[in-house]
Amino acid sequence: MLKFALIATTSSRVHALTGGIRLKTMPTSTAIYSTTTSSSSSSSSITPPPAKNLLFDLPVSNNGARTRIIMYKKEIPESECAVISVMDVGGFKSEEYLSINPQGKIPSLKCQTTGVTIAESDTVCRYLMSSYSDLGPSFQPDNPLSNEIARFHDMYLTTIQTCLYRAVPPFGIFGTRKDALKEYSKQLYIISNMMDDEGPYLCGKEVSLADASVFPSVVFASFMFPKFDQKELMDDQQQQLVPKKIEEWFQRMIDTDVAFQKVYEEISGGLAKWDEKGRWDTIWLAGLRDDEPDTLFDKILAGEIPASIVKEDDKILAFKDINPAAPAHVLVIPKDRDGLTRLSKSTPEHYEILGRLMVAAGEIAKDESLGFGDGARIVINDGAKAGQEVFHLHVHVLGGRDFNWPPG
Ligand code: AMP
Repeated sequence: MLKFALIATTSSRVHALTGGIRLKTMPTSTAIYSTTTSSSSSSSSITPPPAKNLLFDLPVSNNGARTRIIMYKKEIPESECAVISVMDVGGFKSEEYLSINPQGKIPSLKCQTTGVTIAESDTVCRYLMSSYSDLGPSFQPDNPLSNEIARFHDMYLTTIQTCLYRAVPPFGIFGTRKDALKEYSKQLYIISNMMDDEGPYLCGKEVSLADASVFPSVVFASFMFPKFDQKELMDDQQQQLVPKKIEEWFQRMIDTDVAFQKVYEEISGGLAKWDEKGRWDTIWLAGLRDDEPDTLFDKILAGEIPASIVKEDDKILAFKDINPAAPAHVLVIPKDRDGLTRLSKSTPEHYEILGRLMVAAGEIAKDESLGFGDGARIVINDGAKAGQEVFHLHVHVLGGRDFNWPPG
Protein backbone atom coordinates (compact mmCIF):
# COMPACT_ATOMS: atom_id res chain seq x y z
CA MET A 1 0.00 0.00 0.00
CA LEU A 2 1.40 3.39 -0.95
CA LYS A 3 2.01 5.92 1.74
CA PHE A 4 0.74 9.27 0.55
CA ALA A 5 1.75 12.74 1.65
CA LEU A 6 -0.43 14.92 3.80
CA ILE A 7 -2.15 17.01 1.17
CA ALA A 8 -5.73 18.09 1.59
CA THR A 9 -7.49 17.62 -1.70
CA THR A 10 -10.65 19.11 -3.03
CA SER A 11 -12.32 18.96 -6.38
CA SER A 12 -10.40 22.12 -7.29
CA ARG A 13 -7.34 19.89 -7.56
CA VAL A 14 -8.65 18.75 -10.88
CA HIS A 15 -8.62 22.35 -12.07
CA ALA A 16 -5.14 22.86 -10.71
CA LEU A 17 -4.04 19.84 -12.69
CA THR A 18 -5.62 21.04 -15.88
CA GLY A 19 -4.53 24.64 -15.53
CA GLY A 20 -8.15 25.68 -14.99
CA ILE A 21 -9.06 24.73 -18.54
CA ARG A 22 -12.40 23.10 -19.10
CA LEU A 23 -11.62 19.89 -20.84
CA LYS A 24 -13.47 19.28 -24.04
CA THR A 25 -15.07 16.12 -25.26
CA MET A 26 -12.94 13.39 -23.70
CA PRO A 27 -14.79 10.74 -21.70
CA THR A 28 -14.45 11.39 -17.98
CA SER A 29 -13.00 7.93 -17.49
CA THR A 30 -9.73 9.13 -18.99
CA ALA A 31 -9.55 12.61 -17.49
CA ILE A 32 -6.65 13.46 -15.24
CA TYR A 33 -7.96 13.35 -11.72
CA SER A 34 -6.84 13.58 -8.18
CA THR A 35 -6.00 10.89 -5.71
CA THR A 36 -9.44 11.37 -4.28
CA THR A 37 -12.66 12.19 -6.04
CA SER A 38 -14.43 13.19 -2.85
CA SER A 39 -14.81 16.97 -2.63
CA SER A 40 -15.70 16.71 1.06
CA SER A 41 -12.49 14.94 1.95
CA SER A 42 -10.52 16.65 4.68
CA SER A 43 -8.61 13.52 5.47
CA SER A 44 -4.90 13.96 6.11
CA SER A 45 -3.96 10.83 4.24
CA ILE A 46 -4.97 10.07 0.70
CA THR A 47 -6.06 6.69 -0.42
CA PRO A 48 -4.87 5.84 -3.90
CA PRO A 49 -7.70 5.12 -6.31
CA PRO A 50 -8.44 1.45 -6.89
CA ALA A 51 -6.81 1.41 -10.29
CA LYS A 52 -4.51 -1.33 -11.48
CA ASN A 53 -1.88 1.22 -12.50
CA LEU A 54 -1.10 4.68 -11.18
CA LEU A 55 0.59 7.12 -13.54
CA PHE A 56 2.48 9.78 -11.58
CA ASP A 57 2.72 12.91 -13.66
CA LEU A 58 1.99 16.65 -14.03
CA PRO A 59 -0.13 18.20 -16.80
CA VAL A 60 2.69 20.54 -17.87
CA SER A 61 5.18 17.69 -18.15
CA ASN A 62 6.40 17.28 -21.70
CA ASN A 63 7.58 13.71 -21.14
CA GLY A 64 4.50 12.63 -19.25
CA ALA A 65 2.23 14.06 -21.92
CA ARG A 66 3.12 11.37 -24.42
CA THR A 67 1.96 8.65 -22.06
CA ARG A 68 -1.32 10.52 -21.61
CA ILE A 69 -1.79 10.78 -25.38
CA ILE A 70 -1.60 7.00 -25.52
CA MET A 71 -3.96 6.61 -22.56
CA TYR A 72 -6.49 9.05 -23.99
CA LYS A 73 -6.41 7.66 -27.51
CA LYS A 74 -6.73 4.11 -26.25
CA GLU A 75 -9.40 5.26 -23.79
CA ILE A 76 -7.83 3.17 -21.07
CA PRO A 77 -10.40 3.20 -18.25
CA GLU A 78 -9.41 4.73 -14.94
CA SER A 79 -9.94 1.38 -13.24
CA GLU A 80 -6.91 0.30 -15.28
CA CYS A 81 -4.79 3.42 -15.09
CA ALA A 82 -5.35 6.54 -12.99
CA VAL A 83 -3.31 9.70 -13.35
CA ILE A 84 -1.98 11.13 -10.09
CA SER A 85 -0.32 14.49 -9.66
CA VAL A 86 3.16 13.98 -8.28
CA MET A 87 2.30 16.91 -6.01
CA ASP A 88 -0.25 14.68 -4.29
CA VAL A 89 2.61 12.64 -2.91
CA GLY A 90 4.59 15.66 -1.78
CA GLY A 91 6.46 16.48 -5.00
CA PHE A 92 9.36 15.01 -6.95
CA LYS A 93 11.82 14.90 -4.09
CA SER A 94 9.47 13.69 -1.36
CA GLU A 95 10.30 10.50 0.49
CA GLU A 96 7.02 9.07 -0.75
CA TYR A 97 7.72 9.74 -4.40
CA LEU A 98 11.36 8.67 -4.19
CA SER A 99 10.14 5.36 -2.82
CA ILE A 100 8.05 5.03 -6.00
CA ASN A 101 10.73 6.32 -8.38
CA PRO A 102 14.22 6.78 -6.88
CA GLN A 103 15.15 9.12 -9.76
CA GLY A 104 12.52 11.60 -8.63
CA LYS A 105 11.41 12.15 -12.22
CA ILE A 106 8.06 11.96 -13.97
CA PRO A 107 6.32 10.15 -15.43
CA SER A 108 6.40 6.85 -13.65
CA LEU A 109 3.79 4.16 -13.58
CA LYS A 110 3.22 2.08 -10.48
CA CYS A 111 1.49 -1.23 -10.98
CA GLN A 112 -0.55 -1.69 -7.80
CA THR A 113 -1.02 -5.40 -8.28
CA THR A 114 2.67 -6.26 -8.66
CA GLY A 115 4.18 -3.29 -6.81
CA VAL A 116 6.55 -2.72 -9.74
CA THR A 117 7.25 0.83 -10.89
CA ILE A 118 8.08 1.58 -14.50
CA ALA A 119 9.90 4.86 -14.97
CA GLU A 120 10.78 6.94 -18.03
CA SER A 121 8.22 8.05 -20.58
CA ASP A 122 9.17 5.90 -23.56
CA THR A 123 9.21 2.80 -21.36
CA VAL A 124 5.85 3.69 -19.83
CA CYS A 125 4.44 4.25 -23.34
CA ARG A 126 5.66 0.86 -24.52
CA TYR A 127 4.19 -0.77 -21.41
CA LEU A 128 0.81 0.85 -22.13
CA MET A 129 1.04 -0.11 -25.81
CA SER A 130 1.66 -3.77 -25.05
CA SER A 131 -0.57 -4.08 -21.97
CA TYR A 132 -3.50 -2.47 -23.75
CA SER A 133 -2.84 -3.70 -27.28
CA ASP A 134 -6.51 -4.69 -27.56
CA LEU A 135 -7.67 -1.11 -26.97
CA GLY A 136 -7.61 1.63 -29.63
CA PRO A 137 -4.71 2.24 -32.01
CA SER A 138 -1.51 0.21 -31.61
CA PHE A 139 0.82 3.25 -31.93
CA GLN A 140 3.15 0.84 -33.73
CA PRO A 141 2.34 1.07 -37.43
CA ASP A 142 4.19 -1.09 -39.88
CA ASN A 143 6.67 1.72 -40.44
CA PRO A 144 10.11 1.79 -38.78
CA LEU A 145 10.07 5.59 -39.01
CA SER A 146 7.88 5.69 -35.91
CA ASN A 147 10.58 4.23 -33.69
CA GLU A 148 13.27 6.22 -35.45
CA ILE A 149 11.52 9.57 -35.00
CA ALA A 150 10.66 8.77 -31.37
CA ARG A 151 14.27 7.81 -30.69
CA PHE A 152 15.72 10.85 -32.50
CA HIS A 153 13.35 13.00 -30.51
CA ASP A 154 14.50 11.52 -27.22
CA MET A 155 18.20 11.62 -28.04
CA TYR A 156 18.44 15.04 -29.64
CA LEU A 157 15.45 17.11 -28.53
CA THR A 158 14.52 15.86 -25.07
CA THR A 159 18.13 16.16 -23.92
CA ILE A 160 18.27 19.90 -24.68
CA GLN A 161 14.70 21.04 -24.24
CA THR A 162 15.49 22.89 -21.00
CA CYS A 163 17.06 25.63 -23.14
CA LEU A 164 13.50 26.79 -23.82
CA TYR A 165 12.63 27.53 -20.20
CA ARG A 166 15.32 26.79 -17.63
CA ALA A 167 17.25 29.63 -15.98
CA VAL A 168 20.83 28.58 -16.63
CA PRO A 169 22.98 26.36 -18.84
CA PRO A 170 24.21 23.79 -19.53
CA PHE A 171 21.44 22.43 -21.73
CA GLY A 172 22.49 18.88 -22.44
CA ILE A 173 25.81 19.04 -24.23
CA PHE A 174 25.39 22.76 -24.99
CA GLY A 175 27.01 25.39 -22.80
CA THR A 176 25.07 28.30 -24.26
CA ARG A 177 21.37 28.89 -24.73
CA LYS A 178 21.84 30.19 -28.26
CA ASP A 179 23.63 27.04 -29.40
CA ALA A 180 21.01 24.82 -27.77
CA LEU A 181 18.05 26.76 -29.20
CA LYS A 182 19.54 26.65 -32.71
CA GLU A 183 20.11 22.93 -32.32
CA TYR A 184 16.53 22.43 -31.14
CA SER A 185 15.25 24.06 -34.31
CA LYS A 186 17.70 22.07 -36.45
CA GLN A 187 16.49 18.80 -34.93
CA LEU A 188 12.87 19.74 -35.65
CA TYR A 189 13.87 20.23 -39.29
CA ILE A 190 15.51 16.81 -39.33
CA ILE A 191 12.29 15.27 -38.02
CA SER A 192 10.20 17.24 -40.52
CA ASN A 193 12.34 15.82 -43.32
CA MET A 194 11.60 12.32 -42.05
CA MET A 195 7.82 12.83 -42.02
CA ASP A 196 5.50 10.97 -44.32
CA ASP A 197 4.09 13.61 -46.67
CA GLU A 198 0.75 11.83 -47.01
CA GLY A 199 -0.17 12.30 -43.35
CA PRO A 200 -2.25 13.01 -41.45
CA TYR A 201 0.14 11.62 -38.83
CA LEU A 202 3.93 11.84 -38.80
CA CYS A 203 4.31 8.35 -40.25
CA GLY A 204 1.26 8.32 -42.50
CA LYS A 205 -2.28 7.14 -41.97
CA GLU A 206 -1.83 5.64 -38.50
CA VAL A 207 -1.08 7.43 -35.27
CA SER A 208 2.22 6.25 -33.83
CA LEU A 209 4.63 6.59 -30.96
CA ALA A 210 6.37 9.28 -33.03
CA ASP A 211 3.28 11.51 -32.86
CA ALA A 212 2.92 10.95 -29.11
CA SER A 213 6.61 11.70 -28.50
CA VAL A 214 7.00 14.77 -30.70
CA PHE A 215 3.66 16.50 -30.09
CA PRO A 216 4.32 17.70 -26.50
CA SER A 217 7.72 19.08 -27.53
CA VAL A 218 6.06 21.09 -30.27
CA VAL A 219 3.60 22.45 -27.70
CA PHE A 220 6.66 23.68 -25.81
CA ALA A 221 8.46 24.97 -28.90
CA SER A 222 5.47 26.80 -30.37
CA PHE A 223 4.77 28.45 -27.02
CA MET A 224 8.36 29.33 -26.16
CA PHE A 225 10.31 30.03 -29.37
CA PRO A 226 8.37 33.28 -30.02
CA LYS A 227 9.65 34.60 -26.69
CA PHE A 228 13.23 34.61 -27.97
CA ASP A 229 15.07 37.05 -30.20
CA GLN A 230 14.41 35.32 -33.54
CA LYS A 231 17.14 37.04 -35.51
CA GLU A 232 19.74 35.76 -33.04
CA LEU A 233 18.58 32.20 -33.67
CA MET A 234 17.77 31.94 -37.36
CA ASP A 235 20.14 31.46 -40.26
CA ASP A 236 19.90 33.88 -43.16
CA GLN A 237 17.92 31.36 -45.22
CA GLN A 238 15.69 30.21 -42.35
CA GLN A 239 12.10 31.47 -42.35
CA GLN A 240 10.90 30.00 -39.05
CA LEU A 241 12.23 28.03 -36.09
CA VAL A 242 9.46 25.42 -36.11
CA PRO A 243 9.37 23.94 -39.64
CA LYS A 244 6.22 24.56 -41.64
CA LYS A 245 5.48 20.83 -42.08
CA ILE A 246 5.68 20.26 -38.32
CA GLU A 247 3.57 23.34 -37.69
CA GLU A 248 0.88 22.08 -40.07
CA TRP A 249 0.88 18.59 -38.54
CA PHE A 250 0.72 20.12 -35.04
CA GLN A 251 -2.27 22.32 -35.93
CA ARG A 252 -3.98 19.36 -37.64
CA MET A 253 -3.64 17.27 -34.47
CA ILE A 254 -5.12 20.06 -32.34
CA ASP A 255 -7.97 20.65 -34.80
CA THR A 256 -8.92 17.06 -35.50
CA ASP A 257 -7.91 14.80 -32.62
CA VAL A 258 -9.51 15.22 -29.20
CA ALA A 259 -6.77 13.29 -27.37
CA PHE A 260 -4.03 15.51 -28.78
CA GLN A 261 -6.21 18.55 -28.21
CA LYS A 262 -6.70 17.60 -24.58
CA VAL A 263 -2.98 17.16 -23.98
CA TYR A 264 -2.36 20.47 -25.76
CA GLU A 265 -4.70 22.17 -23.32
CA GLU A 266 -3.19 20.46 -20.30
CA ILE A 267 0.35 21.53 -21.19
CA SER A 268 -0.65 25.01 -22.35
CA GLY A 269 -2.54 25.61 -19.10
CA GLY A 270 0.63 24.85 -17.13
CA LEU A 271 2.80 26.96 -19.42
CA ALA A 272 0.41 29.92 -19.16
CA LYS A 273 0.92 29.78 -15.39
CA TRP A 274 4.71 29.81 -15.83
CA ASP A 275 4.28 32.82 -18.10
CA GLU A 276 2.04 34.67 -15.63
CA LYS A 277 4.75 34.25 -13.02
CA GLY A 278 7.24 35.94 -15.38
CA ARG A 279 9.30 32.85 -16.07
CA TRP A 280 10.86 34.26 -19.28
CA ASP A 281 11.49 37.77 -17.87
CA THR A 282 14.89 36.68 -16.61
CA ILE A 283 15.77 34.22 -19.38
CA TRP A 284 18.62 35.23 -21.64
CA LEU A 285 17.59 36.10 -25.26
CA ALA A 286 13.93 36.20 -24.12
CA GLY A 287 13.28 38.81 -21.40
CA LEU A 288 16.99 39.65 -21.20
CA ARG A 289 18.80 40.82 -24.33
CA ASP A 290 21.94 42.69 -25.31
CA ASP A 291 20.66 46.15 -26.26
CA GLU A 292 23.97 47.99 -25.83
CA PRO A 293 25.51 49.71 -28.88
CA ASP A 294 28.11 47.96 -31.01
CA THR A 295 31.79 48.77 -30.48
CA LEU A 296 34.83 48.87 -32.71
CA PHE A 297 35.44 45.22 -31.85
CA ASP A 298 32.29 44.40 -33.85
CA LYS A 299 33.98 46.07 -36.82
CA ILE A 300 37.09 43.95 -36.24
CA LEU A 301 34.88 40.85 -36.05
CA ALA A 302 33.14 41.84 -39.28
CA GLY A 303 36.50 42.44 -40.99
CA GLU A 304 35.72 46.11 -41.47
CA ILE A 305 38.76 47.19 -39.44
CA PRO A 306 42.02 45.28 -39.94
CA ALA A 307 43.52 43.47 -36.97
CA SER A 308 46.56 41.28 -36.45
CA ILE A 309 44.75 38.05 -35.54
CA VAL A 310 46.78 35.53 -33.56
CA LYS A 311 44.10 32.99 -32.62
CA GLU A 312 40.54 32.23 -33.61
CA ASP A 313 37.93 29.54 -33.12
CA ASP A 314 34.13 29.36 -33.27
CA LYS A 315 33.76 31.32 -30.03
CA ILE A 316 36.76 33.61 -29.54
CA LEU A 317 39.03 35.95 -31.48
CA ALA A 318 42.49 37.07 -30.29
CA PHE A 319 44.41 39.91 -31.91
CA LYS A 320 47.37 42.13 -31.12
CA ASP A 321 46.59 45.32 -29.22
CA ILE A 322 47.09 48.32 -31.52
CA ASN A 323 48.66 50.29 -28.67
CA PRO A 324 50.70 47.67 -26.80
CA ALA A 325 51.46 48.20 -23.13
CA ALA A 326 54.14 45.49 -23.15
CA PRO A 327 56.37 43.83 -25.81
CA ALA A 328 53.67 41.19 -26.19
CA HIS A 329 50.06 42.40 -25.84
CA VAL A 330 47.09 40.42 -27.14
CA LEU A 331 43.36 40.96 -26.61
CA VAL A 332 41.04 37.98 -26.42
CA ILE A 333 37.36 38.67 -27.07
CA PRO A 334 34.15 36.62 -27.35
CA LYS A 335 32.90 36.63 -30.95
CA ASP A 336 29.38 36.94 -29.62
CA ARG A 337 29.23 39.60 -26.93
CA ASP A 338 25.95 38.19 -25.60
CA GLY A 339 25.53 40.97 -23.05
CA LEU A 340 29.14 40.89 -21.87
CA THR A 341 29.86 44.58 -22.28
CA ARG A 342 32.01 44.15 -19.17
CA LEU A 343 32.92 41.31 -16.85
CA SER A 344 30.57 42.45 -14.11
CA LYS A 345 27.67 41.79 -16.52
CA SER A 346 28.50 38.09 -16.49
CA THR A 347 25.90 35.57 -15.36
CA PRO A 348 25.76 31.77 -15.34
CA GLU A 349 24.70 32.08 -19.03
CA HIS A 350 28.35 32.95 -19.63
CA TYR A 351 30.06 30.03 -17.91
CA GLU A 352 31.14 28.53 -21.21
CA ILE A 353 32.48 31.65 -22.91
CA LEU A 354 34.33 32.80 -19.78
CA GLY A 355 36.05 29.44 -19.63
CA ARG A 356 36.89 29.60 -23.34
CA LEU A 357 38.40 33.10 -22.95
CA MET A 358 40.53 32.07 -19.98
CA VAL A 359 41.85 28.93 -21.64
CA ALA A 360 42.69 30.90 -24.80
CA ALA A 361 44.44 33.57 -22.71
CA GLY A 362 46.46 30.88 -20.95
CA GLU A 363 47.54 29.37 -24.27
CA ILE A 364 48.53 32.75 -25.69
CA ALA A 365 50.46 33.61 -22.50
CA LYS A 366 52.94 30.81 -23.19
CA ASP A 367 53.30 31.38 -26.92
CA GLU A 368 56.92 32.35 -27.41
CA SER A 369 56.35 33.11 -31.10
CA LEU A 370 54.20 36.05 -29.95
CA GLY A 371 56.93 37.33 -27.61
CA PHE A 372 55.62 35.76 -24.42
CA GLY A 373 58.13 34.22 -22.04
CA ASP A 374 57.95 32.95 -18.50
CA GLY A 375 55.16 34.92 -16.84
CA ALA A 376 52.39 37.13 -18.09
CA ARG A 377 49.91 39.61 -16.76
CA ILE A 378 46.30 38.72 -17.61
CA VAL A 379 44.00 41.71 -17.06
CA ILE A 380 40.33 42.55 -17.46
CA ASN A 381 39.44 46.20 -17.00
CA ASP A 382 35.88 46.38 -15.70
CA GLY A 383 34.30 49.77 -16.19
CA ALA A 384 35.58 53.22 -17.16
CA LYS A 385 37.07 53.85 -13.71
CA ALA A 386 39.27 50.79 -14.14
CA GLY A 387 40.39 52.01 -17.56
CA GLN A 388 37.91 50.15 -19.77
CA GLU A 389 37.42 51.96 -23.06
CA VAL A 390 35.81 49.34 -25.27
CA PHE A 391 32.58 47.89 -23.95
CA HIS A 392 32.89 44.41 -25.38
CA LEU A 393 34.51 42.11 -22.84
CA HIS A 394 38.18 41.56 -23.58
CA VAL A 395 41.04 39.90 -21.79
CA HIS A 396 44.41 41.61 -22.03
CA VAL A 397 47.32 39.19 -22.18
CA LEU A 398 50.58 41.09 -21.55
CA GLY A 399 54.09 39.65 -21.54
CA GLY A 400 57.71 40.00 -22.59
CA ARG A 401 58.68 42.11 -19.56
CA ASP A 402 58.46 42.15 -15.75
CA PHE A 403 55.35 43.54 -14.09
CA ASN A 404 54.96 45.40 -10.80
CA TRP A 405 52.52 44.61 -8.06
CA PRO A 406 50.26 46.22 -7.00
CA PRO A 407 49.29 47.48 -10.43
CA GLY A 408 48.75 51.22 -10.81
P1 AMP B 1 40.35 48.69 -22.45
O1 AMP B 1 40.96 49.98 -22.12
O2 AMP B 1 40.53 47.63 -21.38
O3 AMP B 1 38.91 48.84 -22.88
O4 AMP B 1 41.15 48.09 -23.67
C1 AMP B 1 40.86 48.42 -25.00
C2 AMP B 1 42.07 48.05 -25.77
O5 AMP B 1 41.73 48.01 -27.13
C3 AMP B 1 43.19 49.10 -25.62
O6 AMP B 1 44.34 48.48 -25.08
C4 AMP B 1 43.41 49.58 -27.04
O7 AMP B 1 44.77 49.84 -27.31
C5 AMP B 1 42.85 48.44 -27.85
N1 AMP B 1 42.42 48.82 -29.19
C6 AMP B 1 41.68 49.88 -29.54
N2 AMP B 1 41.47 49.87 -30.89
C7 AMP B 1 42.08 48.77 -31.36
C8 AMP B 1 42.24 48.21 -32.66
N3 AMP B 1 41.69 48.77 -33.76
N4 AMP B 1 42.95 47.08 -32.79
C9 AMP B 1 43.50 46.50 -31.72
N5 AMP B 1 43.39 46.99 -30.47
C10 AMP B 1 42.69 48.11 -30.28
